[in-house]
Amino acid sequence: MTTLTTLATAIASGTVRVIDLTHTLDPDFPVMILPPEFGQCARFRMEEVSAYDERGPAWKWHNLSMSEHTGTHFDAPSHWISGRDIPNGAVDEIDVKNFIGPVCVIDCSQGAKSDDDFELTVSIIQEWEADHGQIPKDAWVLMRTDWSHKRGAEYLNMREDGAHSPGPTPEAIQFLIDQRDIRGFGTETVGTDAGQGSHYSPPYPAHFYLHGAGKFGLQCLNNLDQLPPVGAILMAAPLKVKNGTGSPLRVLALIEETP
Ligand code: MN
Repeated sequence: MTTLTTLATAIASGTVRVIDLTHTLDPDFPVMILPPEFGQCARFRMEEVSAYDERGPAWKWHNLSMSEHTGTHFDAPSHWISGRDIPNGAVDEIDVKNFIGPVCVIDCSQGAKSDDDFELTVSIIQEWEADHGQIPKDAWVLMRTDWSHKRGAEYLNMREDGAHSPGPTPEAIQFLIDQRDIRGFGTETVGTDAGQGSHYSPPYPAHFYLHGAGKFGLQCLNNLDQLPPVGAILMAAPLKVKNGTGSPLRVLALIEETP
């Protein structure tokens, strides 16, 4: 059998399982809230065009509207000022082979349970590597926090001084880029940066360093607790929007069931 028929057989039989890492697009799903002087990200909206009625007797369909950065979504290099001059930095220009690849999952769920501002640090990454081996070049790295289990106001966790949610330190992101040459970084929270990410230097270091290096982001991921630390394959292909800086998408992971 060829590699692809082997894969198809394994998916059909369940020895390779497909995990959905996506939240449902829903008008109630929270979006990032910026300080009021800035433009705002739109929530998901769905408007009925017809539903087997006089507006269209045999068909049902909807018009959708949303931000590029609504729901489970992909960040392209052109999203950030540091990545504005990266060649092929918009979603329609990225080489599609980047949309399928290996993924490492760093479990920070225990720390995030007791500290809303939990930081992924270089030493946590190094401890993870001591257990699971070095993060391979060109892999996705996902920060598991179980934040995807939160609903409503708890998800953004806004306080007087802004949002409080976990994220990486500037040094951790630099380590992943400079020392491990990752493909991208993903989180369960509304951004790749911590809720208080504006207070780092540079502000929003994950966005700044990742996109400046031509790397990608994934946010509002779901079901990371179903992934192994290593060995899964991530499939994350954004919509092909001309000059798009990001896009909602269906993120899937393939995992191999150990017999
Ligand atoms: Mn985004």
